[in-house]
Amino acid sequence: MVFDVVVAGAGPAGWSVASGLVTKGLSVCMVAPDPTTPFSHTYGLWIDEVGEWSSPEWYTSVWPFVNVHLSATDVRRLCRRYGRLNNEALRAHFMGRARGCKLIYDRVEAVVKEGDQFVAQTANGNSLRALLVVDATGHESQLIAHAPGPEPGWQVAYGWTLEIPSHPWENGEAVLMDFRPPDESKASLVRPSFLYVLPETSTRVFVEETSLIGRPPVSIAELRQRLNNRLQLLGITSGRIIKEERCFIPMGGPPAPPIQSVVAFGGAARMVHPGTGYMLAHVLKIAPRLVEAVYTSCETGECAWDRVRRAWAAVWTTDERRAHNLLRFGAEVLMRMDTPSMCSFFDVFFSLPERHWFEYLSCGATSSDVRNSMWKVFNQANWPLRWRLVRESFGRGGVALRQGLV
Ligand SMILES: Cc1cc2nc3c(=O)[nH]c(=O)nc-3n(C[C@H](O)[C@H](O)[C@H](O)COP(=O)(O)OP(=O)(O)OC[C@H]3O[C@@H](n4cnc5c(N)ncnc54)[C@H](O)[C@@H]3O)c2cc1C
Repeated sequence: MVFDVVVAGAGPAGWSVASGLVTKGLSVCMVAPDPTTPFSHTYGLWIDEVGEWSSPEWYTSVWPFVNVHLSATDVRRLCRRYGRLNNEALRAHFMGRARGCKLIYDRVEAVVKEGDQFVAQTANGNSLRALLVVDATGHESQLIAHAPGPEPGWQVAYGWTLEIPSHPWENGEAVLMDFRPPDESKASLVRPSFLYVLPETSTRVFVEETSLIGRPPVSIAELRQRLNNRLQLLGITSGRIIKEERCFIPMGGPPAPPIQSVVAFGGAARMVHPGTGYMLAHVLKIAPRLVEAVYTSCETGECAWDRVRRAWAAVWTTDERRAHNLLRFGAEVLMRMDTPSMCSFFDVFFSLPERHWFEYLSCGATSSDVRNSMWKVFNQANWPLRWRLVRESFGRGGVALRQGLV
């Protein structure tokens, strides 16, 4: 049998595309070690980014604003709705739409082109033939070749869902970043991390110590220690850990992958925002565009390379690649900052008119939006930050900057 599409991977990227393709009437086969496993990560996003996914049913909690603590006395309130995704509702929705999708419990190890088709070869010896193979196997994809570029930085986070008698976020406010020092150590000063807090109820809260971006990565052990220290400082000394979360996300690094025979989507396509580590909103927004492109190419009987090219153009438009390069420059700058520099950067950043920081943080912002926001930061910055930006533009990040400007 020849499928229209084989989708490798059953995370949010794989399911969003597979379900869209099935609704269009295409024959789809999904391959993953366990395609029906629930999405396990704690996914948060800015609700205004996701259009059709903005209604409350898709969230376990929604906060009307989030706080950013830059110091003991400087708290910024970002008036932008933020939600924690209801993973179960999202997955049930996708699976409901994807009835008829063939599920195979296996791993795709290689994809080869045979004639006008592609064959996905699996660990268990299956050869699955299709008009197109979509790689949604996440950030560690082995099926995609990456463009040359610097090593990525890493967002690393260590978190707990806690059940505690009470917590200090009394009004239930979410905290996007709390940069107040977790302890007096030199490491905390040199290698920044912040606390991320999503209070679900008056007794249940998700807390995560996060290193925004680092090369080499900050270790989980270090972040666990900082999280413990912080909770002590906040007076949280008793309670029950309901769930532990560890997070590694590659950020920045090489440009978006070049066009190649396997079409990547989600983490595999490096769609994660190079400066924030967010991606879900982007995946939910772009999936219908990819579905439409694949449907058109299958329906019109395009040749294999035209199918591939059309699909890649839907994953990454030329302008999105440009914007991504500018954001990679931003990632290189952030990677080299200690805690005071990062706080003074965010001081400038969140003092910009809302429109500019909204745009910079959005996955899928246009290159001109990103360029404008960067220019605004440069204009408002103090001299040390300006000097850092200029120096970086002649350093490793300069290549990305030029790729983004040309
Ligand atoms: C802990 C954590 C928290 C995050 N929080 C957020 C957040 O709050 N907001 C946000 O926007 N982003 C967040 N991200 C970033 C990003 O959105 C997630 O990494 C997201 O899960 C990526 O989706 P994906 O479908 O591309 O890959 P994944 O979710 O990683 O799914 C990959 C799938 O591919 C399967 N697979 C792997 N190898 C193979 C193979 N060879 N063959 C077949 N199948 C294979 C896996 O079993 C899995 O089903 C977070 C990431 C992590 C790690």
